[in-house]
Amino acid sequence: MKHSLFDLHCDTAYKMLTERQSLTQNKLAVSLKNAKKFDRYVQVMALWTDDSLDDEQGWQQMLAMHKNLLSDPAVQNKKVMISSTLIDTTSPLLLLSIEDLRILAGRLERVDELFRLGIRIITPLWRGDTCIGGSHDTPNGLTEFGKRALHRAISLGMIADISHASIRAADEILSLGKALNRPVIASHSNAYEICPVSRNLIRRQAVEIIDMGGLIGLNLHAPFLKHESNAAVADLFPHIDYFLELGASATLCLGCDLDGCQPPTDSFTVASLIDLAEMMLKHNYSESLIQRIFYENAAHFASAL
Ligand SMILES: [Zn+2]
Repeated sequence: MKHSLFDLHCDTAYKMLTERQSLTQNKLAVSLKNAKKFDRYVQVMALWTDDSLDDEQGWQQMLAMHKNLLSDPAVQNKKVMISSTLIDTTSPLLLLSIEDLRILAGRLERVDELFRLGIRIITPLWRGDTCIGGSHDTPNGLTEFGKRALHRAISLGMIADISHASIRAADEILSLGKALNRPVIASHSNAYEICPVSRNLIRRQAVEIIDMGGLIGLNLHAPFLKHESNAAVADLFPHIDYFLELGASATLCLGCDLDGCQPPTDSFTVASLIDLAEMMLKHNYSESLIQRIFYENAAHFASAL
């Protein structure tokens, strides 16, 4: 069976910059070489900045990361395309997101600059309290600046992402999406009721995403799969079943978090997702459901942007 892949989240751009790795072949989980078995391959690359940097330094690092990605030989030689929209191409395609919007450092006009850089997915929070608001490890909602920044981003046509948000901030982001008639996503989060960690999605918010036509990207980070014991890749299945029961057959996709997470097995790469698809077939998931989770749901969402 031929598989296509549309993955909603990886932190590879950060590692390419900080570990001086290229996209074609590297020691990372995501590379063009590792992805070559896929028929079509769309990868959302998050521009995540080092949390030890202050907000202003983080902005500078994001610009350097963006520039580094654009100057990669594979991009220069058109072996891979970077686009702000889902374009019809047989080449691998990279879309850009930003993770941890604190690097706006209080400057609203930077939202427009991110849009000009081609970034279309905004994951506003990451950890702790920032100028944007409260992340999953705090009880706090969005700040006034955070609300203005997200309103601007969504109005420009960017998609807001509640992964990493506190419950309160996620509620506020979902309300903002509804008010502006734009779907909201959770790019790399699993089900809280299956694995109760603050990074996973509570039922009510998963249902809201499903109802508004958003996306939920399944995360392969072992501690988000199974609580307080070692997870196996198959521990993803209870999360899939749970979301499907909520009606997520057109919402579920992959947001594997590769190069930013610890997958259940060592040396898990984007190529290992072929094995995951085969495991899903053996687990009696239908071929059409696997294709929807691996590619079609996210592609359908992105083509409507
Ligand atoms: Zn993340």
